[in-house]
Amino acid sequence: MSIFRRRSETATLDRPAESAVAALACDSRGCMRQTAVPCSYRDRRGRACNTAFCEDHGSTVAGLPYCRRHASTIQALGRLAGDPLSHPDVGNRAPSLVNWVANDLDPPVREILSRLAHAGERVLSDQEVTLVHDQNRQPRWERSWRLVDHTGVIVKITVIVSDDDDALVRVRVGSDDVVRAVPPWIERRRRGLQSTADVDASQRRIFYRFIEENIAATAERHRQASDQPVWTR
Ligand SMILES: [Zn+2]
Ligand SMILES: [Zn+2]
Repeated sequence: MSIFRRRSETATLDRPAESAVAALACDSRGCMRQTAVPCSYRDRRGRACNTAFCEDHGSTVAGLPYCRRHASTIQALGRLAGDPLSHPDVGNRAPSLVNWVANDLDPPVREILSRLAHAGERVLSDQEVTLVHDQNRQPRWERSWRLVDHTGVIVKITVIVSDDDDALVRVRVGSDDVVRAVPPWIERRRRGLQSTADVDASQRRIFYRFIEENIAATAERHRQASDQPVWTR
């Protein structure tokens, strides 16, 4: 990297802007590009993310370059992204993990709720991750889906990741905790295990199937309970 930096410093004499940009190595493993740009993320304490990626391995949100995790964090923050004091610590993966898992679960969860819906009921879903503080003032990040009628919520499904354990995915149906699990791809990385695309894909499928089955079973019970006349519940 230093070679390229030095070369760009020499080059600044005649062509400043272009050569300065064209001299940063991409941090993606195996990528040989020298056209990386630094991640723009700053956390609430003003700390920067020290990665740089080329256009294939980074992401752009609202015109700014980010590494993939922080692109997903900024997207997860939604409206909160404009407030630097709400930016989680550089190493915190909670908001981006909620967003990934909720995006992957979106089609099956909508399917489950639509199947349980009666005429005149609708499925609503959060497009953004929201920041919630529990009774101990611990921050957690959530995204949810709701089956509603004109009187209110019938079934609510929520994906949650807390700041104090940003690898643990929790799924709730109403107030029932139906899943508490560390995704297999994070578990493997934690244990320093190598993985192949095949293993990753099959473990991912098992992980999501497990979540979907648990959601479906509990959501069905909540539906049945809401169908009972109030005095028999
Ligand atoms: Zn790259
Ligand atoms: Zn970053």
